[in-house]
Amino acid sequence: MKYHLVFMVTLVALGCRQEVVKKQNKSNSSDKIETVVKVDSVQKKELKSFEGLADTTFVRLADFSGDFAYDMRYATENNFLKAKVYDCAECYTRVKTAKALINANKDFLEKGARIKFFDCYRPNSVQYKMWEIVPNPQYVANPVKGSIHNKGGAVDITLVDIDGNELDMGTDFDFFGKKAYHDNLDLSEEILSNRKLLKETMEAHGFWSIRTEWWHYNLSAGSNDKIANFKWECMH
Ligand SMILES: [Zn+2]
Repeated sequence: MKYHLVFMVTLVALGCRQEVVKKQNKSNSSDKIETVVKVDSVQKKELKSFEGLADTTFVRLADFSGDFAYDMRYATENNFLKAKVYDCAECYTRVKTAKALINANKDFLEKGARIKFFDCYRPNSVQYKMWEIVPNPQYVANPVKGSIHNKGGAVDITLVDIDGNELDMGTDFDFFGKKAYHDNLDLSEEILSNRKLLKETMEAHGFWSIRTEWWHYNLSAGSNDKIANFKWECMH
């Protein structure tokens, strides 16, 4: 409730500022016009639309929603491989996955939470890199068969609150062990309820989970897509 109030106040404050800018614009002084231009340039960074895009097109999620949080762990050494396997931290998925994620995130936002990504689409060449470091199918999908991450239909996620604090899910991302299993109920009520919120909401939006990783979700409609090797440019 408190967060909603803060959010409302912020909205009202933003609304006021825009009004002030409009009024200043009428006075036509040059420094005031500059203020207006700055506001416009912020607005131009606004989101892209899915219109005209095929469901299987790869898109950068941040271009379509500003409501997600990101901690792309494989673009750092802070992961179980202890290696940085991406040149830069980006979250791409196919359009249909992106749409389902945005819809799921709307439900989370209503409950004061939002999705934070650890990994999204993973080019097949990166899967080979990971396999070279850890050639064990228990931890890394064999790149010849590929993973649903390589198809653009899987994401590794957790939930954060409005201030960006991670909800307690019991283990870190990529903790391989029983504590990360969905069917391990030997956890606090809080952890179980956080995992339940994540799982039930994702399932309501067309995702399915795997038993051993609380963070991993596959889009059902993405299972039959081809393994891809599309690579994004590092420009953001
Ligand atoms: Zn995963």
